[in-house]
Amino acid sequence: MNYCPQCQSNKIVKSGIVNHRQRYKCKSCNYYFTVNKLGKKIDQYYVTKALQLYLEGLTYREIERIIGVSHVSVMNWVKKYNIHKVENQDYHPTYKILGQSELSNFFSNQENTKGAGMIVTELGDKYMVIKWERFKD
Ligand SMILES: [Zn+2]
Repeated sequence: MNYCPQCQSNKIVKSGIVNHRQRYKCKSCNYYFTVNKLGKKIDQYYVTKALQLYLEGLTYREIERIIGVSHVSVMNWVKKYNIHKVENQDYHPTYKILGQSELSNFFSNQENTKGAGMIVTELGDKYMVIKWERFKD
């Protein structure tokens, strides 16, 4: 178990990878810190998230920006796990990163949920909503 170096709270959550090191955020005092060199072994959590986003149609650069893992790593995982994206010209994904209360506001507005498939995935201490929108003819 890890503790916040600033306030010793154990209420810490993963918050991306910085320079191949796991970054954490303390939910008690909002302090960001990194621990434990990960070297070449990156947490499976991020591999799964990256591949999930890739399948949803996001580009390598977008995945890099969202997860904080280099696009080269993501490309390597796609190759390693032999992931094939479905060709798709009719829909494109949009995504939002939301906190807990933003997420509940988002879902309380029917305009946001009508006529669209979507998935919600945890991302560090926030949530990502990926929504499919049909291209206009
Ligand atoms: Zn703290």
